[in-house]
Amino acid sequence: MNTPKKRIVEEPVIKWDRNGLFRCRVCGCTEVDACQPPCAWAETGLCTTCADAIADIQIWQGRARRANMTALLRELKSWTNRRTSGRGAR
Ligand SMILES: [Zn+2]
Ligand SMILES: [Zn+2]
Repeated sequence: MNTPKKRIVEEPVIKWDRNGLFRCRVCGCTEVDACQPPCAWAETGLCTTCADAIADIQIWQGRARRANMTALLRELKSWTNRRTSGRGAR
């Protein structure tokens, strides 16, 4: 039998928690541990909070000259730091 060296990590589309409840595959929320404000299911395994974020990013991708997700995430991180620390400069 052939054992491939490279293991292809397949992302499971639907996740469950230990109680057998659906879990959002993006943020990991469940029916008993929902987002704030409480979310609903946009589809099985994807909650409305994350679906909204995806829709916003899709709009951004359509508008941006070059939609660089890595740069966006870096920016997001610095914005979050700014908001929590209250200081602009590093
Ligand atoms: Zn979610
Ligand atoms: Zn959620």
